[in-house]
Amino acid sequence: MAIIIKGITRCRICGSGDLSLPYIGTSGMAFPKGDELHPYCDALLHLDCLARWPHRERFSRGYFDRRRDDPDRSNGVLLAERRTWLLRCGPASPDAEPYFAEVLLIDWPMRLYSRWAQWDDYVAQGYGQRLSGEALMAAGQVMSEVRQVAPTLEVLGALRQQALTQPSPGGSER
Ligand SMILES: [Zn+2]
Repeated sequence: MAIIIKGITRCRICGSGDLSLPYIGTSGMAFPKGDELHPYCDALLHLDCLARWPHRERFSRGYFDRRRDDPDRSNGVLLAERRTWLLRCGPASPDAEPYFAEVLLIDWPMRLYSRWAQWDDYVAQGYGQRLSGEALMAAGQVMSEVRQVAPTLEVLGALRQQALTQPSPGGSER
């Protein structure tokens, strides 16, 4: 996540340094130098600014595709995928507990991140803790679908076992 320092870091969309408003930090460079969206990578972005930002969908898609197509299993494993979201976990060797599970949305650049062991609470309601407004609504819609796929840590673990025994990450080639 972008380094955020109170009084210095500003929202890259509106230019305000007001950290009392809900925000996210993007991490890594999903767009190369020269792309109009490059300056918004590795940055702080207010949720309300994102809600109104015309580039949000293309921007989010950049991070979504990058995460989905990551061939390096030491970064994580794809557990489930739908048109508008994907569910991953990682990083861990196959015989160890993963450290986290995460849900990515195709049209919001949020990483809904849960400690692996806390998944039961996170998938039920914990995901909403730092969200508000349209971002919370978008997350709520996606998480209601994720709950059907991975309602508990036990099911999440079973999905992971399944993913690890498949020949290619994510099993999208079945
Ligand atoms: Zn802003």
